[in-house]
Amino acid sequence: MDFKKFENKIFFRIDKGEEIVNSVKHICKELNIKTGTITGLGATDKITIGIFNINTKKYHTTEFTGDHEISQLYGNISSMSEDVYLHIHVTICDIKHQSFGGHLNSAIVSATFEGVIEEIDGKVNRSFDGESGLNLIKF
Ligand code: FE
Repeated sequence: MDFKKFENKIFFRIDKGEEIVNSVKHICKELNIKTGTITGLGATDKITIGIFNINTKKYHTTEFTGDHEISQLYGNISSMSEDVYLHIHVTICDIKHQSFGGHLNSAIVSATFEGVIEEIDGKVNRSFDGESGLNLIKF
């Protein structure tokens, strides 16, 4: 993994074998980024994504292995209990160009991953909301 900051934007690369969510969290902590957005693209051969079931209030997760492009990754950075909180969604596609998407739990980079964080000057907190079962943004 490597990264470089340009004013309020950070360009970063995550390498083969590294996990994306942990790597982004590491960059945020290293650069003290509390709030912002993340975009990226790359390739993965092991990824777990979830879909939130609003009735059970639980995530139904699926693991995909084998060659997949991360055709789109988008997320935001906020804080919860003074820790970095990432909320990231992805769309991946397989060898037949069929796409799958959802809430990103973890993904191992198979070739490379390239991303940009845009830092927002400010702090946004989250707290658990019992009604939805989600950690919602609170201003
Ligand atoms: Fe989500």
